[in-house]
Amino acid sequence: MMLDSFLLALLTLGKEVKRMSEILEMALRYSEVGITVMPLHGIKEDGSCTCRNGSNCASKSKHPMFNV
Ligand SMILES: [Zn+2]
Repeated sequence: MMLDSFLLALLTLGKEVKRMSEILEMALRYSEVGITVMPLHGIKEDGSCTCRNGSNCASKSKHPMFNV
């Protein structure tokens, strides 16, 4: 797993990530060394995606939060 993929996965873990400030700090470190960081949607406790499509999302937790 590439480092940027690892970070993206980390961002989607929700409960397992300790604090948002830690995520931001890690994202900044990766960015400083030239690794692209992109926030992804996550999974809610009910299994639906955090995007506006919710339970109807075809790629739950597997797509970026923003269009690039
Ligand atoms: Zn989604």
